Amino acid sequence: MALPDTEKLPVLFIGHGSPLSAVQADRFSDAWLKAGKSLPRPAAVLVISAHWHVRGTFVHAGERPKTLHDFEGFPQELYDQVYPCPGSPAGAEAVVQTAKRVLVKVDREWGLDHGAWVPAKRLFPKADVPMFQLSLDATKPAQFHYDLGRELRPLRRKGVLILASGNIAHNLALMDPMLDANPLDWAVEFDAIVRRSVQKGDHANLVAYGKLGDVARLAVPEPSHYLPLLYALGLREEGEKPSFFAEGFAHASLSMRCIRFG
Ligand code: ZN
Repeated sequence: MALPDTEKLPVLFIGHGSPLSAVQADRFSDAWLKAGKSLPRPAAVLVISAHWHVRGTFVHAGERPKTLHDFEGFPQELYDQVYPCPGSPAGAEAVVQTAKRVLVKVDREWGLDHGAWVPAKRLFPKADVPMFQLSLDATKPAQFHYDLGRELRPLRRKGVLILASGNIAHNLALMDPMLDANPLDWAVEFDAIVRRSVQKGDHANLVAYGKLGDVARLAVPEPSHYLPLLYALGLREEGEKPSFFAEGFAHASLSMRCIRFG
Protein backbone atom coordinates (compact mmCIF):
# COMPACT_ATOMS: atom_id res chain seq x y z
CA MET A 1 0.00 0.00 0.00
CA ALA A 2 1.58 3.27 -1.12
CA LEU A 3 1.29 6.48 0.86
CA PRO A 4 -1.20 9.13 -0.34
CA ASP A 5 -0.31 12.51 -1.88
CA THR A 6 -1.22 15.14 0.70
CA GLU A 7 -0.80 18.73 1.75
CA LYS A 8 2.59 19.41 3.31
CA LEU A 9 2.82 18.19 6.90
CA PRO A 10 4.81 19.91 9.66
CA VAL A 11 8.23 18.85 10.90
CA LEU A 12 8.86 18.82 14.64
CA PHE A 13 11.99 18.80 16.72
CA ILE A 14 11.29 17.74 20.29
CA GLY A 15 13.69 18.23 23.17
CA HIS A 16 12.69 15.08 25.04
CA GLY A 17 14.74 15.12 28.28
CA SER A 18 13.99 12.52 30.94
CA PRO A 19 11.65 9.56 30.28
CA LEU A 20 9.81 10.50 33.48
CA SER A 21 7.80 12.96 31.35
CA ALA A 22 5.83 9.90 30.24
CA VAL A 23 4.29 9.45 33.70
CA GLN A 24 4.70 12.86 35.36
CA ALA A 25 3.21 15.92 33.71
CA ASP A 26 5.59 18.88 33.63
CA ARG A 27 5.64 22.14 31.70
CA PHE A 28 7.38 20.46 28.79
CA SER A 29 5.02 17.51 28.45
CA ASP A 30 2.12 19.98 28.79
CA ALA A 31 3.54 21.92 25.82
CA TRP A 32 3.76 18.70 23.78
CA LEU A 33 0.14 17.90 24.60
CA LYS A 34 -0.94 21.36 23.47
CA ALA A 35 1.17 21.13 20.30
CA GLY A 36 -0.36 17.75 19.49
CA LYS A 37 -3.84 19.24 19.49
CA SER A 38 -2.82 21.71 16.78
CA LEU A 39 -1.39 19.08 14.42
CA PRO A 40 -3.18 17.74 11.37
CA ARG A 41 -3.74 13.99 11.49
CA PRO A 42 -0.91 12.37 9.51
CA ALA A 43 -0.99 9.05 7.64
CA ALA A 44 2.13 8.11 9.60
CA VAL A 45 4.74 9.59 11.93
CA LEU A 46 8.43 9.02 11.18
CA VAL A 47 10.55 9.42 14.31
CA ILE A 48 14.27 10.14 14.15
CA SER A 49 15.39 9.58 17.73
CA ALA A 50 18.68 10.13 19.53
CA HIS A 51 18.32 6.67 21.04
CA TRP A 52 18.68 4.69 17.83
CA HIS A 53 22.28 5.72 17.15
CA VAL A 54 23.97 2.76 15.49
CA ARG A 55 26.25 1.76 12.64
CA GLY A 56 24.06 2.23 9.59
CA THR A 57 20.82 3.86 8.48
CA PHE A 58 17.89 1.55 9.18
CA VAL A 59 14.15 2.02 8.96
CA HIS A 60 11.88 -0.09 11.12
CA ALA A 61 9.19 -1.85 9.11
CA GLY A 62 7.34 -3.81 11.79
CA GLU A 63 3.54 -3.92 11.81
CA ARG A 64 3.39 -3.64 15.63
CA PRO A 65 6.49 -1.85 16.94
CA LYS A 66 7.29 -2.82 20.51
CA THR A 67 7.70 -0.23 23.26
CA LEU A 68 11.38 -0.23 24.24
CA HIS A 69 12.29 0.60 27.82
CA ASP A 70 15.81 1.66 26.94
CA PHE A 71 16.81 3.26 30.25
CA GLU A 72 17.93 2.15 33.70
CA GLY A 73 17.19 3.11 37.27
CA PHE A 74 13.68 4.53 36.90
CA PRO A 75 10.49 3.62 38.82
CA GLN A 76 8.62 0.46 37.84
CA GLU A 77 5.70 2.56 36.63
CA LEU A 78 7.84 3.70 33.70
CA TYR A 79 8.70 0.12 32.69
CA ASP A 80 4.99 -0.72 32.73
CA GLN A 81 4.21 1.90 30.08
CA VAL A 82 3.32 0.78 26.58
CA TYR A 83 2.56 2.79 23.47
CA PRO A 84 0.56 0.36 21.36
CA CYS A 85 0.41 2.24 18.03
CA PRO A 86 0.58 0.43 14.70
CA GLY A 87 3.77 0.53 12.62
CA SER A 88 3.99 1.68 9.04
CA PRO A 89 5.52 -0.79 6.61
CA ALA A 90 4.32 1.52 3.80
CA GLY A 91 6.14 4.42 5.42
CA ALA A 92 9.32 2.36 5.73
CA GLU A 93 9.11 1.45 2.05
CA ALA A 94 8.63 5.13 1.17
CA VAL A 95 11.76 6.07 3.13
CA VAL A 96 13.81 3.44 1.27
CA GLN A 97 12.51 4.76 -2.07
CA THR A 98 12.89 8.45 -1.22
CA ALA A 99 16.50 8.32 0.03
CA LYS A 100 18.47 8.31 -3.21
CA ARG A 101 22.07 8.65 -2.08
CA VAL A 102 21.83 6.66 1.12
CA LEU A 103 21.18 2.94 1.27
CA VAL A 104 18.49 2.65 3.94
CA LYS A 105 18.21 -0.91 5.20
CA VAL A 106 14.97 -2.40 6.50
CA ASP A 107 14.92 -3.43 10.15
CA ARG A 108 12.45 -5.70 11.92
CA GLU A 109 14.00 -5.82 15.41
CA TRP A 110 13.75 -2.30 16.81
CA GLY A 111 10.43 -0.75 17.75
CA LEU A 112 9.88 2.57 19.50
CA ASP A 113 12.58 3.79 21.89
CA HIS A 114 11.81 6.31 24.61
CA GLY A 115 12.86 9.22 22.40
CA ALA A 116 9.84 8.27 20.30
CA TRP A 117 7.15 7.00 22.65
CA VAL A 118 7.62 9.42 25.56
CA PRO A 119 6.74 12.52 23.49
CA ALA A 120 4.30 10.49 21.37
CA LYS A 121 2.22 9.76 24.46
CA ARG A 122 1.47 13.50 24.68
CA LEU A 123 1.44 14.42 20.99
CA PHE A 124 -0.77 11.49 19.91
CA PRO A 125 -2.24 10.19 23.18
CA LYS A 126 -4.60 7.73 21.52
CA ALA A 127 -1.68 5.82 19.95
CA ASP A 128 -3.83 5.44 16.83
CA VAL A 129 -1.43 6.97 14.26
CA PRO A 130 1.07 4.57 12.65
CA MET A 131 4.60 5.34 13.83
CA PHE A 132 7.98 4.08 12.70
CA GLN A 133 11.63 4.98 13.27
CA LEU A 134 14.74 5.80 11.25
CA SER A 135 18.15 5.23 12.86
CA LEU A 136 21.04 7.68 13.09
CA ASP A 137 24.23 6.33 11.49
CA ALA A 138 26.85 6.93 14.17
CA THR A 139 29.68 6.52 11.66
CA LYS A 140 28.66 9.56 9.58
CA PRO A 141 29.51 13.27 9.95
CA ALA A 142 26.96 15.99 10.69
CA GLN A 143 26.65 16.99 7.03
CA PHE A 144 25.43 13.50 6.12
CA HIS A 145 22.52 13.79 8.54
CA TYR A 146 21.52 17.25 7.31
CA ASP A 147 21.67 16.07 3.70
CA LEU A 148 19.59 12.97 4.43
CA GLY A 149 16.98 15.21 6.04
CA ARG A 150 16.88 17.25 2.82
CA GLU A 151 16.44 14.10 0.75
CA LEU A 152 13.47 13.02 2.84
CA ARG A 153 11.54 16.27 2.25
CA PRO A 154 9.11 14.68 -0.26
CA LEU A 155 7.71 12.51 2.55
CA ARG A 156 6.10 15.64 4.01
CA ARG A 157 3.72 15.61 1.04
CA LYS A 158 3.03 11.91 1.46
CA GLY A 159 1.14 12.22 4.70
CA VAL A 160 4.24 11.72 6.86
CA LEU A 161 4.79 13.94 9.86
CA ILE A 162 8.45 13.81 10.84
CA LEU A 163 9.36 14.02 14.49
CA ALA A 164 13.04 14.50 15.26
CA SER A 165 13.68 13.79 18.94
CA GLY A 166 16.83 14.75 20.86
CA ASN A 167 18.04 17.74 22.88
CA ILE A 168 19.94 20.82 21.61
CA ALA A 169 22.08 20.79 24.76
CA HIS A 170 22.46 17.39 26.44
CA ASN A 171 25.18 16.70 28.98
CA LEU A 172 24.30 13.81 31.30
CA ALA A 173 27.53 14.07 33.29
CA LEU A 174 26.64 17.62 34.40
CA MET A 175 22.94 17.00 35.11
CA ASP A 176 21.36 18.18 38.35
CA PRO A 177 18.82 15.77 39.91
CA MET A 178 16.28 18.61 40.18
CA LEU A 179 14.16 19.14 37.08
CA ASP A 180 13.97 22.89 37.71
CA ALA A 181 17.61 23.45 38.72
CA ASN A 182 19.09 26.68 37.39
CA PRO A 183 20.43 26.08 33.89
CA LEU A 184 24.18 26.13 33.40
CA ASP A 185 25.60 29.16 31.58
CA TRP A 186 27.03 27.23 28.64
CA ALA A 187 23.70 25.43 28.10
CA VAL A 188 21.88 28.77 27.99
CA GLU A 189 24.46 30.23 25.64
CA PHE A 190 24.53 27.28 23.25
CA ASP A 191 20.74 27.09 23.16
CA ALA A 192 20.61 30.81 22.30
CA ILE A 193 23.15 30.41 19.50
CA VAL A 194 21.08 27.59 18.04
CA ARG A 195 17.82 29.56 18.40
CA ARG A 196 19.27 32.57 16.57
CA SER A 197 20.74 30.42 13.78
CA VAL A 198 17.45 28.55 13.34
CA GLN A 199 15.58 31.87 13.16
CA LYS A 200 18.00 33.20 10.53
CA GLY A 201 18.00 29.94 8.57
CA ASP A 202 21.79 29.76 9.08
CA HIS A 203 22.07 26.00 8.87
CA ALA A 204 25.75 25.90 7.88
CA ASN A 205 26.61 27.27 11.32
CA LEU A 206 24.64 24.47 12.95
CA VAL A 207 26.02 21.67 10.78
CA ALA A 208 29.55 22.88 11.69
CA TYR A 209 28.63 23.04 15.39
CA GLY A 210 32.09 21.75 16.36
CA LYS A 211 33.41 25.21 15.44
CA LEU A 212 31.18 26.93 17.99
CA GLY A 213 33.78 26.52 20.72
CA ASP A 214 33.66 25.43 24.35
CA VAL A 215 29.91 25.89 24.72
CA ALA A 216 29.36 23.39 21.91
CA ARG A 217 31.77 20.89 23.45
CA LEU A 218 29.85 21.07 26.73
CA ALA A 219 26.38 21.03 25.15
CA VAL A 220 27.19 18.27 22.66
CA PRO A 221 29.71 15.97 24.37
CA GLU A 222 28.56 13.23 21.97
CA PRO A 223 26.31 13.82 18.96
CA SER A 224 23.32 11.48 19.45
CA HIS A 225 20.90 14.11 20.83
CA TYR A 226 22.05 16.92 18.53
CA LEU A 227 21.86 15.05 15.22
CA PRO A 228 18.03 14.84 15.12
CA LEU A 229 18.02 18.67 14.97
CA LEU A 230 19.97 18.50 11.70
CA TYR A 231 17.27 16.29 10.14
CA ALA A 232 14.60 18.81 11.16
CA LEU A 233 16.62 21.63 9.60
CA GLY A 234 17.23 19.66 6.40
CA LEU A 235 13.51 18.93 6.16
CA ARG A 236 12.58 22.62 6.39
CA GLU A 237 11.37 24.01 3.08
CA GLU A 238 12.37 27.45 1.81
CA GLY A 239 10.56 30.26 3.57
CA GLU A 240 9.29 28.23 6.53
CA LYS A 241 9.69 30.09 9.80
CA PRO A 242 10.32 28.19 13.03
CA SER A 243 7.93 28.31 15.92
CA PHE A 244 9.35 27.39 19.31
CA PHE A 245 6.50 25.68 21.10
CA ALA A 246 8.53 24.84 24.21
CA GLU A 247 11.74 26.23 25.60
CA GLY A 248 13.68 26.16 28.83
CA PHE A 249 15.99 23.74 30.57
CA ALA A 250 15.68 20.54 32.58
CA HIS A 251 18.16 19.23 35.14
CA ALA A 252 20.45 22.25 34.48
CA SER A 253 22.16 20.74 31.43
CA LEU A 254 19.36 19.75 29.02
CA SER A 255 17.79 22.24 26.60
CA MET A 256 14.12 21.34 26.19
CA ARG A 257 13.58 23.66 23.20
CA CYS A 258 11.06 22.33 20.68
CA ILE A 259 10.70 23.58 17.11
CA ARG A 260 7.98 23.32 14.50
CA PHE A 261 8.29 24.08 10.79
CA GLY A 262 5.18 24.24 8.64
ZN1 ZN B 1 17.42 11.05 25.28
